[in-house]
Amino acid sequence: MEKPKAKGGCSDKNCPIHGNLIPRGREFNGTVIAKDVHGTATVEFDRRVSVKKYERYAKKRTRLRVHNPECINAGIGDLVKVTECKPLSKTKNSVIVEKTGKDVLYQQKAEALEEGKAPEEKEEKRESEETEAADKKKAEQPQEKPGKGQDKSSQDGKDEEQSAGSQGDATEEDEAEPEDKKGEE
Ligand SMILES: [Zn+2]
Repeated sequence: MEKPKAKGGCSDKNCPIHGNLIPRGREFNGTVIAKDVHGTATVEFDRRVSVKKYERYAKKRTRLRVHNPECINAGIGDLVKVTECKPLSKTKNSVIVEKTGKDVLYQQKAEALEEGKAPEEKEEKRESEETEAADKKKAEQPQEKPGKGQDKSSQDGKDEEQSAGSQGDATEEDEAEPEDKKGEE
């Protein structure tokens, strides 16, 4: 249907477009991860499975052996639409019906999986986030110190103590502890 040129050239009797095969049943959308010489491909796709115990969904990866018709001839990394059909062999009961595009991230994913980069990158991101958080804490600490200084000055005047109390009881308590220790020493 998409490729009128192939009408004469496609001699695949199991082609859903030019052959006698009637696709029926469930439909899947996946990525071609392997391609064999004799019109067979392996398609992979993710699906969600509900886990009752945790009331959440888990990701599962499914791999299907599918028929790859001559005229469609999907390559590795192609996004394809797969439909169930009659059993074509021991392991094949689905056929690629349509090429829907290219999986742009497929190569990156494959390379990352091979080199084990994917987990390392995540760890690096986490570390950077932690350092950022630490930097923020460091930045916040000097801001608190001048606030304490203001409280100390406010202790001289009773009227200003009320305004200091509104700033936060915790800061006053922190101040009180070191003063008490000094008195004990
Ligand atoms: Zn065909």
